[in-house]
Amino acid sequence: MTPPSQAQWFGHPKGLFVLFMTELWERFSYYGMRAILVLYLTASVTGANPGLGWTNVEALTFYGWYGFSVYMASLPGGYLADRFLGQKKTVLIGALLLALGHLTLAFQNMQAFYGGIFLIVLGVGLLKPNISTMVGGLYAQHDIRRDKGFTIFYIGINLGAAFAPILVGWVAYQYGWHYGFALAGIGMLLSLILYAQGQKHLVGVGDFLGKSTQAEDRAKLRQPLTQVEKDRIWVLLLSFLIVVTFWGAYEQAGGLMNLYAEQKTNRHLLGMEIPASWFQSLTGFFVISLGTLIANFWTRRALKGKESSSLAKMAIGTMIMGSGFFFMTAAALQYEQMGQAAMYWLILAYLFHVIGELSSSPVALSFITKLAPAQYASIIMGAYWAATGLGEKLAGMIGAYSEHWGELQTFTGIAIFCILFGGLILLLLKPLKRLTHGADDDTLIES
Ligand code: GLN
Repeated sequence: MTPPSQAQWFGHPKGLFVLFMTELWERFSYYGMRAILVLYLTASVTGANPGLGWTNVEALTFYGWYGFSVYMASLPGGYLADRFLGQKKTVLIGALLLALGHLTLAFQNMQAFYGGIFLIVLGVGLLKPNISTMVGGLYAQHDIRRDKGFTIFYIGINLGAAFAPILVGWVAYQYGWHYGFALAGIGMLLSLILYAQGQKHLVGVGDFLGKSTQAEDRAKLRQPLTQVEKDRIWVLLLSFLIVVTFWGAYEQAGGLMNLYAEQKTNRHLLGMEIPASWFQSLTGFFVISLGTLIANFWTRRALKGKESSSLAKMAIGTMIMGSGFFFMTAAALQYEQMGQAAMYWLILAYLFHVIGELSSSPVALSFITKLAPAQYASIIMGAYWAATGLGEKLAGMIGAYSEHWGELQTFTGIAIFCILFGGLILLLLKPLKRLTHGADDDTLIES
């Protein structure tokens, strides 16, 4: 394959910043639209800003299936990239479909609504796994900057995710839902343009192996997997159990914790009431402010030769995120005694969630790009995103069951499960690491 573009910026390949901007605006459209979706579905048909008049249960069910479908579509999205198109082209087609889909939602009829949602599902499926794989393609095999590169990319995701609910939500509230959808569409158009413009920095990244000028690249598509490669795929599939657990707990944010903010939390501050939806931006802002700090912490540990394998980080991340739920236990106790919970519990819970997320989620993306054999790189990334989709569905189910179990028990149960599960992975670390056959070991690359 042509070697990846070498031009650097802030010590990282310039292509990283193209992917950063593309994903920032893609996530702006995704989270902007997601923030108003349920509100639009449940708004009354006869109000000043009319919606579809669905019940809460109908809307939440649709929302759950939506989250599940967009990430499940990453499986065919990854397959298409590996077998036929390469990641770079697949991302471009995904971006086109996403722009079309979001702009279609700006029209006010039911065909446009379902058509737009369908295009968004296809678009995310084509774009999301493949753009993540491309970030890995910017770095050589054992480059220690890879995890940091993914953290920078992750900050881009969250810049989009933090501002979108505020801006799109505001436009939808002021001018009408369909203007909100249109703003999300404009964000996606920007993403498409930035990606198309940045192609010169992505030479040699995300190309289809079958079209490579190197015979050994083309041969990879036909070669059977070696035992080492099979072992690595096994350890990846096992690590996806951590992924399902992590997101199954973390994604209470948009559901149960969101309702907790709305219904059981005292949101008065300095004489005003903070809208519950604003708490949805907190995790994004925490990621932006803590991203490099946490990445540097782990790099420093690695340089000192201390345990900092990807699996250890993912397990510890799950434990830290899980322990954040103890703050929700405290909130539930306070609510039971006083009839209202203080908001700092929610803020502390989200803070721990993000510290855990930053130790786990960008690391998982990076880990996949290190371990997956080149000819299956995208489909395995697709499977990762499908696992996060399962996590989202699980989160919805746990949230719904909390009606029976009680919130106090649910929050405490999630915390204990995550800590025990993470602990179990740490105990199994040695045999799991053996299965990676050294692919997770980093070396310092001069830049
Ligand atoms: N917030 C991250 C993103 O949007 C991860 C979401 C998830 O895995 N469910 O990429």
